[in-house]
Amino acid sequence: MRLDKFIAHATGLSRSEVKKQLKAQAIRVNEQVVPQGAMILGKDDRVTFNQQPLSIAPPRYFMLYKPAGVVCANSDAEHPTVIDLIKESQSDSLQIAGRLDKDTTGLVLLTDDGQWNHQLTAPARGKSKTYQVRTAEALTPALVETFAQGILLKGEKSPCRPAKLHIHTNHSASLIITEGKYHQVKRMFAACGNKVTALHRSAIGALHLDPTLAPGDYRPLSAEELDLLD
Ligand code: URA
Repeated sequence: MRLDKFIAHATGLSRSEVKKQLKAQAIRVNEQVVPQGAMILGKDDRVTFNQQPLSIAPPRYFMLYKPAGVVCANSDAEHPTVIDLIKESQSDSLQIAGRLDKDTTGLVLLTDDGQWNHQLTAPARGKSKTYQVRTAEALTPALVETFAQGILLKGEKSPCRPAKLHIHTNHSASLIITEGKYHQVKRMFAACGNKVTALHRSAIGALHLDPTLAPGDYRPLSAEELDLLD
């Protein structure tokens, strides 16, 4: 990482303030004053600011049980946000890895590791998402094949990727999709003349929502859980 970026991350100073501090000789790398920010830091380099050691906190990864009525946004004038539920320092720097609608419940991942978020949610990776769905109209066995063929959503030119529908009862099913189009699950059922009345995300890839979490609760992901998402 570049020295100026590292200082900005570690101190919260703006890029121009960092430049000033570098010029003022307040920054040292391995005891040597470094007045320019372009230097690339190695993993063993020690940086100080006014003699105080600087370090960047390791990235954080959380799973949250999103309740209904909460929006997946960093701020919202009208509704509580998933970030409001996270009682951690600098929670506003967390990114939401794959959003859910306001009325959808279930698994939401949050991180301050932008690269991890990008990799997890990149459409090309096709990470699966499992949803538990309740519908207004009865589900017929023929729908399994319709979802497997790829449903054409209203207003789209190409069909969705094949999706796996498992019908549990007349009005409930689980659905596994590998994309994240806007309101995708609701629009898939709408395209089949049905209506989603309740939607819950139970898993992302092989990572399942912790059954001990209550709606609104969250916890850090373990190293094993992070491996599951690789
Ligand atoms: N599909 C939807 O329609 N809504 C969600 O919140 C997630 C997937």
